[in-house]
Amino acid sequence: MSIRESQYKKILKDYELKRERSNKELRQRQEEVYKKIPRIAEIDKLLASTGIEISKAILQNPEKSEELIHSLEQKNLDLMIEKAELLYINGYNKNYLEPSYECYSCKDTGYINNKPCHCFKQALIDIAYDQSNLKEILAVENFDNFNFDYFSTEIDPESNISPRENIKQIYSHCIRFIEQFDEQFDNLIFYGNPGLGKTFLCNCIAKDLLDRGKTVIYLTAFQLFQLFEQARFNKDENDEFTKDYLESIFTVDLLIIDDLGTEFNTSFTGSELFNCLNSRLLDKKHTIISTNLSPNDWQKQYSERIVSRIFGHYKALKLIGNDIRILKKYR
Ligand SMILES: [Zn+2]
Repeated sequence: MSIRESQYKKILKDYELKRERSNKELRQRQEEVYKKIPRIAEIDKLLASTGIEISKAILQNPEKSEELIHSLEQKNLDLMIEKAELLYINGYNKNYLEPSYECYSCKDTGYINNKPCHCFKQALIDIAYDQSNLKEILAVENFDNFNFDYFSTEIDPESNISPRENIKQIYSHCIRFIEQFDEQFDNLIFYGNPGLGKTFLCNCIAKDLLDRGKTVIYLTAFQLFQLFEQARFNKDENDEFTKDYLESIFTVDLLIIDDLGTEFNTSFTGSELFNCLNSRLLDKKHTIISTNLSPNDWQKQYSERIVSRIFGHYKALKLIGNDIRILKKYR
């Protein structure tokens, strides 16, 4: 993905700041504990000097190196146990004196064995697709805050099921989608009237998968089609840029297209949509679409090849009930 060097530098700077912050917090916790439990300060000093002690001992008695290493290891282990016990007795969590990271996979360095970590890839995506506010939305819109109470228990005559029962089924479908993300290739379409929580569900799934280290792009159909147009516009002057910029839409672990049907659809953007969805199908990359359009409208709005060849590979989940945004307001 081609993004400006300044943005790239900003990501690296952010990692640096995260590590600095986490170091600072760790030092504060250490100071606090050392004051309260001086023995732990001693233990940490002893543990820190182990490396030097081992090298010294081996240099003096090379023939006994194995034995020495073993006894030092044992000593270290005893010290660590003593430290853990002291923390426990004094009411501290056992990880209290460990550094805390936003990403434990790469310890906030952005790299694992010189390869970009999933969090680094996602940071690039967030910048390229202007998803910087996604994290704030996801802090609120996630499965922890999902509330079935907004859905009525009265049977909907058309669907022969109550909205609550229906949303429960859809909910468990979403959970399965997440749990089997690596093993099973699945795509979802949420459809139904506005205000039934389609975007909310998309966000819940995005949050869970981001937490599991997957890369996610979330775009409204409007934004996606704008990108297609932009790409076409930029094509002549800077083909490489266009190609790179759009690449993630094809390769990201999960692409979410929200509000399909609200975009301005031309034959060009229509065929770009087909290319994108088709390529993701062939590469077994998951896609989720939400739309207010009913399956009948899909036929009217999109070409035959999109509807039959693409949507045929999606599990269509219909949301039913009354607009829960209104209910939410009055509760
Ligand atoms: Zn990471």
